[in-house]
Amino acid sequence: MENHLQTKDWGLGLNGHLIIAGPCSAETPEQIEKVCLDMKKENMIPHLFRAGIWKPRTRPGSFEGIGEEGLTWMEIVRNHLNIPITTEVGNAAHVELALKHKVDVLWIGARTTVNPFAVQEIADALKGVDIPVMVKNPMNPDLQLWLGALERLQTVGINKLAAIHRGFSDSYDKRFRNKPNWSMPIHLKREWKGMEVINDPSHIVGNRAGILETAQRAINFGLDGLMIETHHDPDNAWSDAKQQVTPAALKQILSQIDFRETAGSENPSERLNDLRSAVDHLDDQLLDLLQERFSMIDQIGAYKRENHLTVFQSDRWKYVMESRTQKGVTKNLSEKFMKELLYCIHEESVKRQEKQLREADPVKR
Ligand code: PEP
Ligand code: MN
Repeated sequence: MENHLQTKDWGLGLNGHLIIAGPCSAETPEQIEKVCLDMKKENMIPHLFRAGIWKPRTRPGSFEGIGEEGLTWMEIVRNHLNIPITTEVGNAAHVELALKHKVDVLWIGARTTVNPFAVQEIADALKGVDIPVMVKNPMNPDLQLWLGALERLQTVGINKLAAIHRGFSDSYDKRFRNKPNWSMPIHLKREWKGMEVINDPSHIVGNRAGILETAQRAINFGLDGLMIETHHDPDNAWSDAKQQVTPAALKQILSQIDFRETAGSENPSERLNDLRSAVDHLDDQLLDLLQERFSMIDQIGAYKRENHLTVFQSDRWKYVMESRTQKGVTKNLSEKFMKELLYCIHEESVKRQEKQLREADPVKR
């Protein structure tokens, strides 16, 4: 993994966050032209124009995409805006048609990323082709599936790669159509150095009103671009009508976002350097403390072994959990964080002590 080409090296003339906009679905040549004209009028030209040609709809009977004919309308985009276009591919036949019609960038949708057979079929169809591919997160929050899809593409020689965070299906949280899980793109970036993640607030929120807030959060977390569904007449769109915005609204949203820089790791300021070395020092102290704490835990382990006590003592655990959580909350640490931290420390303690018992008194055969 690693050593892929980032969006700035895809030949889009990009310098900063990648902005992708365009309708959920290509509907008619007139619709494509109107979106383009409104983008031009607003001077709201994205780096990449998106349009779904094949739509993976959850239930049959809704608009499932216009198909190959829609790809011929992409000339309209080129004529009016002179920008590259991107569409979703879900199988080898889609890839073949997209390449035939000179689509510039492909993306793999959330419903496809979950299926390694489908991803492999797409990868095989792309062998030897030099085209950037973006991979949306799978429907369920499984980092390995997401990474796996990117790896399958890299293995056949695709080196222009990016990921897209579009949230995860969660029928319980009504605030979102697909709930964001901000640790997921961060984990992906930890696992695959330099992997950029574009945010798709349209599919996360599912309505127009929440797009700005979610997009801003994505930028705050250090995500690398935005894909926002844009239609000249959102209310009458053939798919995802509730979440699409007009080019004018898109312009408004983008102007309100505080685009942060992905921290000067190349050139950090003196102030940032100072703060970071203070944190490095505190982390050293934290590790010393943890070392000391675990050495106490080992002494307690020895005591439990000598006195034939079990490792897990539920009353003690309850006390540790409650007292530390309460204290943490007064120190402005969230209850959730305190619980996760304590679970993590306690689990390690229990494992260490159980190992001590096992090693001191091996099972007699
Ligand atoms: C889309 O981008 O229109 C789409 C179908 O997205 P997702 O794969 O995220 O559901
Ligand atoms: Mn859509």
